[in-house]
Amino acid sequence: MTFETLGLNEALTKAVTASGYETATEVQTQAIPPALAGADLMVSASTGSGKTAAFILPALERVLAARADTTQKRERGVIYGPRVLVLCPTRELAMQVAKAAATYGRFVPGLRVATVVGGVPYPAQIAALRGQLDILISTPGRLIDHLNTGKAVLENVEMLVLDEADRMLDMGFIDDINTIAEAIPATRQTVMFSATFLGHVGRLAQNLLRDPKRIDVASHTDTHENIEQRLHWADNVNHKNALLDHILTRKEMEQAVVFTSTQRDADWLADRLADMGHHVASLHGGHPQGRRNRVLQGLRNGQLKILIATDVAARGIDVPTISHVINYGLPMKAEDYVHRIGRTGRAGRNGLAITLGERMDVGMIRRIQQFTTQSIPVQTVEGLEPKSPEPKMFAARPEGAGRFGNKPFGKPSYGKKPFEHRGQGFAPRGGEGFAPRGGEGFAPRDRAPFDRNAAPRFEPRAPHGDAPRHSPFDRGAATGRVDHKPAFAPRKPGAPAGKGGFKGRPTGFSR
Ligand code: AMP
Repeated sequence: MTFETLGLNEALTKAVTASGYETATEVQTQAIPPALAGADLMVSASTGSGKTAAFILPALERVLAARADTTQKRERGVIYGPRVLVLCPTRELAMQVAKAAATYGRFVPGLRVATVVGGVPYPAQIAALRGQLDILISTPGRLIDHLNTGKAVLENVEMLVLDEADRMLDMGFIDDINTIAEAIPATRQTVMFSATFLGHVGRLAQNLLRDPKRIDVASHTDTHENIEQRLHWADNVNHKNALLDHILTRKEMEQAVVFTSTQRDADWLADRLADMGHHVASLHGGHPQGRRNRVLQGLRNGQLKILIATDVAARGIDVPTISHVINYGLPMKAEDYVHRIGRTGRAGRNGLAITLGERMDVGMIRRIQQFTTQSIPVQTVEGLEPKSPEPKMFAARPEGAGRFGNKPFGKPSYGKKPFEHRGQGFAPRGGEGFAPRGGEGFAPRDRAPFDRNAAPRFEPRAPHGDAPRHSPFDRGAATGRVDHKPAFAPRKPGAPAGKGGFKGRPTGFSR
């Protein structure tokens, strides 16, 4: 469906066309008309589906309607505080939504959009909150701070949007959301986006929405057709590093987001890859907002090739040139896997999502496969095959597994030639295979190469079936075989001091 047929104002259809969109995505087709009619909505749509435009366009339509409504102006005078409030779980997602609002609202005269998120100074936020404002995009925690000090004016909010509501509840924002909703007139329109509406998210929806229309466009069982998923088994952390190095130096690697389980691993891995000559930075909640913004900017403008991120920090990253998502450390929750892989395959492109699994990750990988109802095809890299036997994912087919199709669930495709899976997208070019690279690429590494003869080391499994995850530091401490430089290693004498780049490197991403 075209945007014109959805009933949007010309100022918005013009902006959408200028963004290069010809037709509306499914979530936009389904959500925009009822949203324009003022209905409350419960929408399940995955990242990458175009969900941001599905709520920002109706929000902008409200702004345009208010601009045109001279009666309202006469009766109510100047309106202070936002007309539309969007709540997001993370600062990064809030920034992304603000960017979308500016893009789609570029032809809305005098559009005023503000973001109020943690980690930035209060005074400018207070000025924005109390002034005339069209759209406010905020994380619940910081908005509550302003509400508690009486600085936030929410009495003129006509439309409340909860983006990634499930995530906000996971992050413990339930009370904040309810308090914010109570400060907004009950006559408002409420639109809620969430991966699921089961359990506590469903109860929140019941409390906040009035006679909502349910739209279920994409669920966690989506096949992510344009994202090829792969699983490489690694014997140990050294093997995993060797696999990662191989993937990151492949020609088809345009930009990658590498996920770690902890902030410390993210910093450590970014240091390691920077030492190897990659243009890399880490992104996690422990960094100040200014740095996080710079990193995201570097990713967008292509200066950064590799981002090492934790789950929370990476939500909302929308950079179409991200060709690879690599799970170096497994997520804590199966649904985070779906959010992670959604960082690639954006804007109609193909993407590759590679999980590097150790034996201790079997439990989580199994849960991910159950959650997505898909098995992740196992692949090997020539010359880097694991020495230990492939972990048995599903010895017996689970009861009722028929819905997964005739193929046994989790059937190993082990031993398959690399890149054999799916002919398109990332197929090797003209027989170059996995031949060692001659001389090009990064400088030789200051550490022992992957030890092919090292005995595999498997972590003991926790009673519930999952092994605890440790940082590479812990593994190193346990085995004495980790040879990397710790994140907090003292700078070598004579090394340049940090000046505004990442990790104290003098020239931004230049190393
Ligand atoms: P989202 O699901 O909101 O994170 O958006 C995913 C990506 O799809 C973003 O890069 C958008 O710019 C892009 N997008 C949104 N709407 C459309 C559309 N109608 N056609 C093509 N791409 C779109």
